[in-house]
Amino acid sequence: MNFIHQIEPYLTENDIAAVTDYLRSGGWLTEFQKTAEFEQRLAEFVSAKHATVVTSGTAALYLSLLALGIGPGDSVIVPDFTMIATPNVVRWAGAEPILCDVDPQTLCLDLNKVRLRPDTLAMIYVPINGRSGDMQQVRQFCRSHGLVLIEDACQALGSQSAGQKLGTFGDVGVFSFTPHKIITTGQGGAIVTNDDAVAEKIRKLKDFHRLQPGVDQHDGIGFNFKFTDLQAVIGIEQLKIIEERIEGRRNVWRTYAEQLADIEWLQFLPLGSDDTVPWFADALLNGVQKQPFLDYMKQNGIGCRTFYPPLHTQPPYADQTGEFLVSSDIAARGVWLPSSIQMPSDELNRVVETIRAYTPQAIEEQQTPLPKPHWDLAKSRVESQQSASD
Ligand SMILES: *Cc1c(COP(=O)(O)O)cnc(C)c1O
Repeated sequence: MNFIHQIEPYLTENDIAAVTDYLRSGGWLTEFQKTAEFEQRLAEFVSAKHATVVTSGTAALYLSLLALGIGPGDSVIVPDFTMIATPNVVRWAGAEPILCDVDPQTLCLDLNKVRLRPDTLAMIYVPINGRSGDMQQVRQFCRSHGLVLIEDACQALGSQSAGQKLGTFGDVGVFSFTPHKIITTGQGGAIVTNDDAVAEKIRKLKDFHRLQPGVDQHDGIGFNFKFTDLQAVIGIEQLKIIEERIEGRRNVWRTYAEQLADIEWLQFLPLGSDDTVPWFADALLNGVQKQPFLDYMKQNGIGCRTFYPPLHTQPPYADQTGEFLVSSDIAARGVWLPSSIQMPSDELNRVVETIRAYTPQAIEEQQTPLPKPHWDLAKSRVESQQSASD
């Protein structure tokens, strides 16, 4: 019985051929024409004016902050539930992240809970797992409070809000190409923007602040966050079939959500919109212990992954004040099921059958900090629909 990993990269013969062809072509490996082509295809795919690729999603976020002029003395709103790179880059830039609780339906930053300070200049909004909520509302919120909006769309390439691609709602949007993301170039990230000056600043920052590519004249202190053509040829192939890759992610999510719909202790969050591309198949455990479930799956040759911890519980962010009820709750209960798009249907079935055969262990009140799901998703959904119709 093979082990089913929680996630494996999806590579095709075309990726392999493209790399081989490139290596035989005499290219110099570093970024050049293939990188420019990848950037152009990416910009076209999301309908942005500029796309610039760099070494990682983290580097892309960091350069975004610098290019937008966020630094010491500024604070930035960041969700409490995201990959830790999101607040880390704020600290790298010398600014201060202010963590904010998340919304129980989208798992994204809850605009009603944002605590603004006089020094708050920006928000990094993270469409977590492809869910975004209403991006026009997010944009409107930032505009009305004079905040710069950075969309950390690392998990959301191809997802849309009201027909517009995520990553294009903010002043800048960022993507990641690490192996488990929607497309992968091994490592890598991209910044998209419609702002010529920001794009130019980012281009300089990633390349030693050169006035022109390849010219050793510098009008500032830059980094070397350049991409490579070797990576770009893989990225180009993957963008060519991005619709297939997206459909694969949808298929995995749909299979579990449909075939496990009657399992009461496992709750699939609605995608919210047909425009959402689920990056991972995510689910919340209801009233049952997480670790025994993960152990059981592993014993049966199936890798699952627990949600990110809420960031305020991580030592670098332990100084954050405020209430984080929803992020604490969903992080305690959330698991990512195997989500590789190339999983054959017999493997998907194996995951389904293994879960169906499980006898969950109820949570014992005294032993867990979050004894039972105190956040009733169904209830909160009804309430928010009611308040939306008020
Ligand atoms: C993956 C990810 C990142 C970091 O991207 P890297 O390419 O791994 O540096 C940042 N933010 C979010 C939300 C991510 O999912």
